[in-house]
Amino acid sequence: MPVTSTSMRAVQLTAWESEPEVRDVPVPRPGPGELLLRVDAVGLCHSDIHVMSCPPGTLPYALPMTLGHEVAGTVVEVGDGVAASWLDRLAVVHGVWSCGTCHNCRRGQENHCLKLDGRVGCGLGKPGGLAEYVLVPSERQLVSADGIAATKLAPLADAGLTAYHAIRLHRDAIAGGSTVMVIGVGGLGHLAVQILARTTDAHIVAVDTREAALESSRSHGAHTAATSIGDATEQLRRDRGSSLVDVVLDFVGADSTLSQGSGALAPGGRLVMIGGAGGSMTVAKGRDLPLGWHVSAPFWGPRQDLEAVVDLAQRGLIEADIEIVRFSETLEAYRRLRAGDVRGRIVVVPD
Ligand code: NAD
Ligand code: ZN
Ligand code: ZN
Repeated sequence: MPVTSTSMRAVQLTAWESEPEVRDVPVPRPGPGELLLRVDAVGLCHSDIHVMSCPPGTLPYALPMTLGHEVAGTVVEVGDGVAASWLDRLAVVHGVWSCGTCHNCRRGQENHCLKLDGRVGCGLGKPGGLAEYVLVPSERQLVSADGIAATKLAPLADAGLTAYHAIRLHRDAIAGGSTVMVIGVGGLGHLAVQILARTTDAHIVAVDTREAALESSRSHGAHTAATSIGDATEQLRRDRGSSLVDVVLDFVGADSTLSQGSGALAPGGRLVMIGGAGGSMTVAKGRDLPLGWHVSAPFWGPRQDLEAVVDLAQRGLIEADIEIVRFSETLEAYRRLRAGDVRGRIVVVPD
């Protein structure tokens, strides 16, 4: 169905260190190679809270900018050169708007595209999906996904993809009966627990300050759950004879989680920093980290990992816990996300 409206509502960040606003903006039209999606569902990510809180000059984004980087929608218009078979298809947006031709893109690392210049893509430097329509630069940024509700699909665009990518990168260390600690089982972490439980034989340790998050992680397959890293290692020592952890997936990234998480590592252990709470740590040989340490900071994920995580969901192996809110409730929902008052992922649907 062709789009007739010329303006639409969008949730835009208009100034740094402030809350977004709902504003009227023009409906974009697809140029050559581009696709226009009617937005069906958008997940709210904690990274948006970090973005809003940035002092001016931190990020190279031009404001106002429409937020929303976890987007599922239906293709309603295509530009010249795009196959008409895309029309009416439900798809999830791969939000890293990579060039497709640089060294990293050619080897399947679009998430490290050399041309990104700090503006990553959908809702992170370019107009995102918290609007009635979103313009996607090319077919490469879409993964079609039949048989899954848009509200369950949207969180896979980032929460699912980032968790999957971090686990995939460290699959060798996770193999062989390892112990993996997931710190922060919110939007990303609760999907990480499910991906670990369905695709590895790891002993999964969930840590979260919120008891409700721990309850859901137990139901998703965590074997040990605790409200602090210290309690978790104590439980491991008591129940399994060793408190050592092979891989720590830190979805918080505060000073305390980085230092306590790395303190729990076994020799050869890996600390994987995903959360952006602003913590830092010193890495050095022969200091606090164990022999053969490995610290990494994966960023989002390439398209092939998005396809893989969508496949897991289509096969019923993983499913995002979601709370659905209406578009007009988005600002209040962001306040709750900032306050930590969320279970799984908040997903925004049209009014
Ligand atoms: P969320 O708010 O949904 O979940 C965070 C969870 O961490 C909550 O359950 C909270 O209770 C828990 N938590 C907070 N402080 C804690 C502490 N000190 N110890 C234990 N648990 C604690 O957030 P989210 O959307 O899942 O995002 C998680 C982090 O990942 C954010 O910092 C976000 O910016 C970052 N992120 C990184 C990437 C990447 O590519 N590296 C991608 C997406 C999000
Ligand atoms: Zn995000
Ligand atoms: Zn590139």
